[in-house]
Amino acid sequence: MLTMTNINKTYPDGTCALNNISLNLPTGMVGLLGPNGAGKSSLMRTLACLQAPDSGSITFDDCNILQHPDALRAQLGYLPQYFGVYPNMSCQALLVHIAILKGLRKADYQPQIERLLALTNLTHVANKKVVNFSGGMRQRFGIAQALLGNPKLIIMDEPTAGLDPMERESLNNLLVDISKRRLVLLSTHIVEDVENLCHHVAIINKGCVIESGDVQTLLAPL
Ligand code: ADP
Ligand code: ADP
Repeated sequence: MLTMTNINKTYPDGTCALNNISLNLPTGMVGLLGPNGAGKSSLMRTLACLQAPDSGSITFDDCNILQHPDALRAQLGYLPQYFGVYPNMSCQALLVHIAILKGLRKADYQPQIERLLALTNLTHVANKKVVNFSGGMRQRFGIAQALLGNPKLIIMDEPTAGLDPMERESLNNLLVDISKRRLVLLSTHIVEDVENLCHHVAIINKGCVIESGDVQTLLAPL
């Protein structure tokens, strides 16, 4: 269970991106739905401890995230909207690099990397440079790196943005698969993605929570 209480964030230029956000999110696939500019990325960066809120608290499985960001980092996988990669590194080398940054030991990360390459269907391009990957391959790589260390909380900022329909479907199937034992929080502005993938949805607009609850109830056809 991920609990946010009264989260506020105003950027230095005066833009209020998060206006008293309080949410309780359950395990499984959860959608964060809202139009562009609603505050989705700001909330996700806050959850990933990349940006401090002005006020509020966040707990995940009873751990206070903002007070113990290091404890969280081991449990967290984050896929930003724009995932920068070192242009000269192969897929495999980059995964090793990220595993080391996450503090994993070689004996642990080597078998994990093999498993994740297979899961994301990237084994055949493990020695190719990520910078040359297609959009869909790059997102699957992003998921592989997010899953390193077997985190219990995965945060993905618009993971299917820019993908063609086939790439989207294969990525969506992968997301459903990994959300069975974890909380996967996925931001999107596409209602259909939430209907197809998520069991719980939080709807935000202009930095405020509009609704949060069961997808079947909230998004049922009128
Ligand atoms: P979304 O992900 O839903 O599109 P964002 O969290 O990116 O929303 O943005 C929410 C609001 O905050 C927007 O008005 C955006 O322009 C603004 N914003 C986002 N990041 C910054 C920033 N670093 N500095 C100033 N304003 C920002
Ligand atoms: P998203 O669609 O996820 O909201 P954006 O394109 O809005 O992404 O933001 C990309 C980057 O630009 C982020 O790091 C965000 O903080 C920054 N940013 C967005 N809006 C503003 C803004 N109004 N002023 C300064 N930085 C911004």
